[in-house]
Amino acid sequence: MAKEELECSFCGRKKPETNLLIAGLDAHICDRCIEQAHGIVLEESKQSDSSDLSAELKLRKPQQIKAFLDEYIIGQGVTKKVMSVAVYNHYKRLLQPLSQDDIDIQKSNIIMVGQTGTGKTLMAKTIARMLNVPLAIVDATVLTEAGYVGEDVESILTRLLQAADYNLEKAEKGIVFIDEIDKIARKSDNPSITRDVSGEGVQQALLKLLEGTVVNVPPKGGRKHPDQKFIEVNTENILFIAGGAFDGIERVITKRLNMQAVGYSASKSDEVIDQDNLLQYIIPKDLKDFGLIPEIIGRLPVLTHMDPLDANTLRAILTEPKNAIIKQYKKLFAMDDIEFTITDGALEFIVNKAIEYKLGARGLRSLCEEILTDAMFELPSSDEKKLNVTKTYAEDKLTKTTLKKLKAVS
Ligand code: ADP
Repeated sequence: MAKEELECSFCGRKKPETNLLIAGLDAHICDRCIEQAHGIVLEESKQSDSSDLSAELKLRKPQQIKAFLDEYIIGQGVTKKVMSVAVYNHYKRLLQPLSQDDIDIQKSNIIMVGQTGTGKTLMAKTIARMLNVPLAIVDATVLTEAGYVGEDVESILTRLLQAADYNLEKAEKGIVFIDEIDKIARKSDNPSITRDVSGEGVQQALLKLLEGTVVNVPPKGGRKHPDQKFIEVNTENILFIAGGAFDGIERVITKRLNMQAVGYSASKSDEVIDQDNLLQYIIPKDLKDFGLIPEIIGRLPVLTHMDPLDANTLRAILTEPKNAIIKQYKKLFAMDDIEFTITDGALEFIVNKAIEYKLGARGLRSLCEEILTDAMFELPSSDEKKLNVTKTYAEDKLTKTTLKKLKAVS
């Protein structure tokens, strides 16, 4: 066949009428038909989104969700279980058919209470990774009521849109992690604060978002770009996870537990209270007594706590998770053909220093960095192909001054 006589097998256009004609085994397709077909593919994949969801739901029952969390997070068994159920139910809610029976499954937004560095952010990140949904991490302390210096509450959704590459559909099924939620507790008993700019007002502003509403969101964020067009974001299917250290809430819990003990003295007194982990007894009322307004607590119906990290847990964090710190260093050294090993004694030393200097899990990484920097600087250009870090080696590299420096930044 002469070249000019070639035609698109789909629309019949002759080659000269097309910009591009691509040959297959025994057919041709023109640029216009490719574009049309591409449109159809996109449309189809949009429609199959909800069936993806139900496939996913079949795939990941709460026990599988927990197993996934186990790969990345050490300990925190209670929270993993509670989160697995909450996330599973969140998915079921997204799949619920339009209400025929008046039963509307409500959102299972979550609040995690636990000291800093116990893995709250990691938990939210791991869940987002598992579900392959966008995640926005925001700090409640920067939020203020509209009109004050700071960020409006809508900025949370700007972050989520950014995390979703401005794909609205994805953003509307994403996860928002609000860190330091305890910092917006009401401070009414503090006389020096005349206007509670970052307290109750922000809680009020958050309410609607948590519950589900359509918000006009400035895609580039707040006040610097006044001319931008707003994007309407529906928060109905966004999962909100709040986290906070709630420093001092132990006192609230102890007080309540003591009052209960008085009330039922005989039967309750044989239940031993674990003083090292009082957060495990937390109930919603404690959050209210701490200063969260009841409406916020109501919209974060799943309450869970993080256990404090003991030496065993810290040790496991160093070596066990899928992307454990020590595994990462092994990989880094291996790229230079260097075999990196570390003795039990050295690991124990690192853990003890993290505890002694109250550096928590976050400090483990900085400690390792301090110990290994010299080796990472020198070994790649030397002939040495092995590095075995012992307790003595680690002690040598970690002077008091570096430890003090680490403490100052943590
Ligand atoms: P939080 O949000 O509670 O302040 P993060 O999630 O930011 O704490 O944790 C700080 C670091 O410590 C993370 O980078 C994570 O690697 C590590 N970490 C904390 N807790 C755990 C845990 N239970 N399992 C594994 N790693 C942890």
